[in-house]
Amino acid sequence: MKRILNVADMRRALAEVRGSVGLVPTMGYLHAGHMALVKMARSDNDLVVATIFVNPTQFGPEEDFAQYPRDPERDLAMLRKEKVDVVFTPEASEIYPEDFCSYVTVEGLSDKLEGAFRPGHFRGVATVVAKLFNIIPADRAYFGQKDAQQVVVIRRMARDLNLRPEIIAVPTVREPDGLALSSRNIYLDGEERQAGLVLYRALSLAREMYDRGERRATEIRTAMRGLLDAEPMVQTDYVTVSAAESLQELDRIEDRALVALAARVGRIRLIDNVVLGD
Ligand code: AMP
Repeated sequence: MKRILNVADMRRALAEVRGSVGLVPTMGYLHAGHMALVKMARSDNDLVVATIFVNPTQFGPEEDFAQYPRDPERDLAMLRKEKVDVVFTPEASEIYPEDFCSYVTVEGLSDKLEGAFRPGHFRGVATVVAKLFNIIPADRAYFGQKDAQQVVVIRRMARDLNLRPEIIAVPTVREPDGLALSSRNIYLDGEERQAGLVLYRALSLAREMYDRGERRATEIRTAMRGLLDAEPMVQTDYVTVSAAESLQELDRIEDRALVALAARVGRIRLIDNVVLGD
């Protein structure tokens, strides 16, 4: 596995490449969720490129950029084991030179759900992903369904700007008890982790209601809220039932619906989702 730190070397390394290229962008501190993306990329493509970059522009001023967990040596060993060909690990100054001032905004989609609570987050995400797509000539790029809105935003950006890679969404990897894997989970203590399971219980309730024939989004949201509000350690930011592509909040579920939520357990913010009608 080749490790590359700057853009010029990255371009050189892939200039002569033949066959398909799969790209897996990450912020590191890898877990089995990331590895599901890597494994799919490995099975679909001739060459796999992973990136590890904790992207400062997608964190708000009050958010956890400085505390975001990092363990590059462990990450590299995990990627090597899955036979990743190239790993790109740039410094922030390589991606954002001092006078950097060009950003990608995916209007509308970026302001909803997560975007309403994290202003500027998707501008940072879209910008760094657009840059990675320009640096790395990928045929396919892999993103986790865990960050459902991120997939929607990046798909739209790729379509609108005619970016090259096909965007592939990979199902969410969970712990056996349902907790979605996340790099931030290490900061949960035992009690918080237990309380955090209410997110999965709320999503499972939404699915059960849908499977029993419930199509009124308000009923589903209210029932989920009831569960979440009964967990004193959990502060809910939002519970939404929205159209899976436009992210418009729904009254009635007719087509694919994204049920998404975000909640804080102690200092840690968790997000999770399910898609109904898939
Ligand atoms: P991150 O390092 O958190 O930016 O995540 C990098 C990629 O891995 C993103 O596309 C995430 O959606 C994906 N990912 C993170 N957690 C999971 C998970 N539990 N299951 C599947 N994909 C995930």
